[in-house]
Amino acid sequence: MTEVLPIGERQRRQVCAATEDCLRRAAGICRIEFPAIDIRFDLSGRAAGMYRVRQGRRCIRYNPYILARYFDEGLAETVPHEVAHYATDVLYGLGNIRPHGAEWQDLMCALGAPPRAAARYDLTGIPVRRQRRFSYHCSCSTHQLSTRRHNRIHRERAAYVCRRCKAPLVFAG
Ligand SMILES: [Zn+2]
Ligand SMILES: [Zn+2]
Repeated sequence: MTEVLPIGERQRRQVCAATEDCLRRAAGICRIEFPAIDIRFDLSGRAAGMYRVRQGRRCIRYNPYILARYFDEGLAETVPHEVAHYATDVLYGLGNIRPHGAEWQDLMCALGAPPRAAARYDLTGIPVRRQRRFSYHCSCSTHQLSTRRHNRIHRERAAYVCRRCKAPLVFAG
């Protein structure tokens, strides 16, 4: 298993330039100016890119490991993918459209990019965040629950029962 190294400074500059160029093309298509956006290379996990709005600040995050293996695909697909998320957010508001809905797809097509939600990547040698698990027990065994389920139990008081013994799952702590 070969370890993948993240893209370096030169390729990061290429990705930034491609993002800005794509944003200019989107502006031409949509006939509106899009303000420059923060670009970061701090994404890990299974996605090549992510568009995020946090506390009113917009940001495009790229995964420097996946881009290292799929650099050309990243420029051709991940860049317009995230730019289209940003542009459709400015135009319509994220809450008013589906993430990969008609508005996003139309802009992807206009940018000459494939309007598909996600590509499949070979993640061999790429560091992927391991899912945290939480131990719960019932009357017959121990269950490993995902963070999502664990949070549902705590925040929303959801309950899960064991399929075998029908006893409610209790957090092992
Ligand atoms: Zn997306
Ligand atoms: Zn059980």
